[in-house]
Amino acid sequence: MSDFMYDLFTIGAGSGGVRASRMAAAMGKKVAVAEERHYGGTCVNIGCVPKKLMVYASHFSEDFEDAAGYGWTVPPAAFDWSTLIANKDKEIERLNGIYERLLQNAGVTIYDGRARIVDPHTVSVNGETITAERILIATGGRPVRPEQPGSDYGLISDDFFYLKEMPKRVLVVGGGYIAVEFAGILNGLGAQVTQIYRGPLFLRGFDDEVRMVIAEEMRKKGIDLRFETHLDCIQKEEAGGYTALLTGGTQETDQEALPVDAVFYAVGRKPYVDDLGLENTKVTLNKAGAIAVDSFYQTTEPSIYAIGDVTDRVNLTPVALAEGMTLVKHLFQGEQPALDYSNIPTAVFSQPPIGTVGLTEAQARDLHGAVDVYTSSFRAMKFTMSGRDERSFMKLIVDPKSDKVLGAHMVGADAAEIMQGLGIAMKCGATKAHFDATIGIHPSAAEEFVTMREKRPDPSEMAAE
Ligand code: NDP
Repeated sequence: MSDFMYDLFTIGAGSGGVRASRMAAAMGKKVAVAEERHYGGTCVNIGCVPKKLMVYASHFSEDFEDAAGYGWTVPPAAFDWSTLIANKDKEIERLNGIYERLLQNAGVTIYDGRARIVDPHTVSVNGETITAERILIATGGRPVRPEQPGSDYGLISDDFFYLKEMPKRVLVVGGGYIAVEFAGILNGLGAQVTQIYRGPLFLRGFDDEVRMVIAEEMRKKGIDLRFETHLDCIQKEEAGGYTALLTGGTQETDQEALPVDAVFYAVGRKPYVDDLGLENTKVTLNKAGAIAVDSFYQTTEPSIYAIGDVTDRVNLTPVALAEGMTLVKHLFQGEQPALDYSNIPTAVFSQPPIGTVGLTEAQARDLHGAVDVYTSSFRAMKFTMSGRDERSFMKLIVDPKSDKVLGAHMVGADAAEIMQGLGIAMKCGATKAHFDATIGIHPSAAEEFVTMREKRPDPSEMAAE
């Protein structure tokens, strides 16, 4: 036993911090964790979990409409925001308790408060000085609020989950995961939604066809989606509400004044390193302001480690969990393989949702040259009788030399559920022949992935025709 009070002191009880702390304690290590806000971190409290509950809530508007085609008479449906928020709060409180108990039951000492690093082996919490052989920084990220006139009137994702009333007219700024998910939720709940993105096509980093398909589907559902459009300022109106001044897009005028009840900024998140005391250590930040770590999460200060969004690598909860496990196995059980970041499946809970794993077509062409592409676009069976004009889209990208499936992409109901399974197949190195040899589940949307036989013509060949 060393002279330190703890073997590991974790700053931040979010997904990664809790997992690493519990695992280390289960290995017989003396572990403490400090948390200043809420157990479970962003994902449980103001991220993935409440977001998904709100996606469910917002989908009922379409479900009621679709029911009519199946013979149901649905009485005029009304939605009550305060019931949703109250029930959501209750559920999140329950999960908070579970996270706290998980730590307690694992024998982890909990410090309620903000931890500041005093030196490479010492932290201070609420005036108490605590020493540890190793310190783990797992403080996550915080939403960015851009600096522009009136930006203080804008809301960020943290605010969304605690609004007393649902805004009726909303401007969503941004074109990433959060912007697309919030736009879908608010639209489904009945708000009039305008979403603006600064570039020519949102969801940068996703497959181009997926980006185009989801843009079309969101527009069909009534979202006023505008690209190459910028928010110049937000003005507060005396009569209530705000005016958002926009430029760009297809507007003829130089600047458009859009009346709204709320502006949501979803323009990215930044690593949360404020006032951590890093100046008392040799920890360095990279250009993005994230903590620089090696492949086993060690910072440039040997006794200090960092995992999750504060390192700004793949900012997803399951990745932070995997990093936490990899780290403690490495530290306390000897050498382990480093985490494999390839083929991480991910989903955007847009409406309809996007599921994706592996390379986009553009990435695959860059890395492998010519690739075979298989696509399928269809109306899901459910909508044939409900009459909904929503299309699903699926895409497989295959390396013709090895026959390996390099990327799988989907827009459509249950895309996240379907993509998890395909993620396993791709982790196993599945080839197109494996997909073809797999018997479909009928009738399902997922069976399309094992019945796509026709290669899509190469875009260069199509252009030559
Ligand atoms: P993203 O980084 O995904 O997207 C930020 C968006 O804001 C981009 O469209 C970006 O444009 C745009 N943007 C950035 N700066 C400005 C600016 N100054 N003015 C206007 N637009 C700007 O961030 P999110 O906030 O959506 O999400 C953060 C991260 O959280 C995600 O990357 C993801 O890792 C994670 N997340 C995951 C979810 C899931 O798994 N379903 C759900 C929600 C979040 P450009 O593309 O041009 O840079």
